[in-house]
Amino acid sequence: MTATSPRTAVTVRVPAKVNVQLAVGEVRPDGFHDLANVFLAVGLYDEVTATPADALRVTCEGPDAAQVPLDRTNLAARAAELLAARHGREPAVHLHIAKDIPVAGGMAGGSADAAAALVACDTLWGTGASRAELLALCAELGSDVPFSLLGGAALGTGRGERLRHLEVGGTFTWVFAAADGGLSTPAVYREFDRLTAGTDIPLPHAVPELLDALYTGDAVALAAHLENDLQPAALSLMPSLADTLAVGREAGALAALVSGSGPTTAFLVKDEESAGVVTEALRATGRCRTVRTATSPVPGATVLPRPAES
Ligand code: ATP
Repeated sequence: MTATSPRTAVTVRVPAKVNVQLAVGEVRPDGFHDLANVFLAVGLYDEVTATPADALRVTCEGPDAAQVPLDRTNLAARAAELLAARHGREPAVHLHIAKDIPVAGGMAGGSADAAAALVACDTLWGTGASRAELLALCAELGSDVPFSLLGGAALGTGRGERLRHLEVGGTFTWVFAAADGGLSTPAVYREFDRLTAGTDIPLPHAVPELLDALYTGDAVALAAHLENDLQPAALSLMPSLADTLAVGREAGALAALVSGSGPTTAFLVKDEESAGVVTEALRATGRCRTVRTATSPVPGATVLPRPAES
């Protein structure tokens, strides 16, 4: 086989995300909320492998695989169907997801798989979709999907899907603790609506000091401005998360917050050594399903080189 022969399998690696700012505005007439959402791609990855098949099929491996739907509600399957429909072909593909991103953890794992499946099918089928077309398809699939394609850091406005790339001047180190059980994103937004009913909700906007901290790569300044308007709602639905956040802070994290709609908690730390101390403290609570270290930013959905051919 040569480097130009048709591919029989394409694997795409795609990162999780953490929201370093999630400012939530009022609910819009279409039911979505206006957001100012600062995304950072972090080095925890799913891999989606696309191979030709008679019909669309999804399989999944990994610690959380049992929670991933394998039917057409899987976001990766929906991505393959959407690309196939736009290009007048059948979505005859087997998508295998090697899942390392916690499921229903507020780290956009499903969105990541959708972006990865789009890129994998586009490469496998040779559909040659432009970057702009892929981004538009991502936005149809979900608010967080375009960012999974782009990676790096970005400010999302609208319902989070209108993205502006952000420069990052350094590497940030995080510890992520996945809680037992998940939180449904719509349920967390409903709780946000309940908690804020009757209050004046300001227009969401990105905090300039936070964008400066990203630009200069200053972890201490970033820690001072981390913000998640969904955190009170996530804590209201899962009060034990407050203790988890406190344990990480006491172990030396620069800052602790709920990741997106939770229940994964994110701890910004000074360096690898501090990451080790925070990890041990979180593990000792016995409340965390997994505790992982990752750095950011990292690139978005990326086709992996073919394995060496003999
Ligand atoms: P977000 O941060 O974007 O709000 P999340 O990280 O909280 O999302 P996901 O891991 O994306 O949550 O999963 C949410 C639900 O979506 C799961 O409970 C599952 O039923 C469904 N789902 C559909 N496709 C996938 C997929 N490929 N991987 C994981 N979950 C999926």
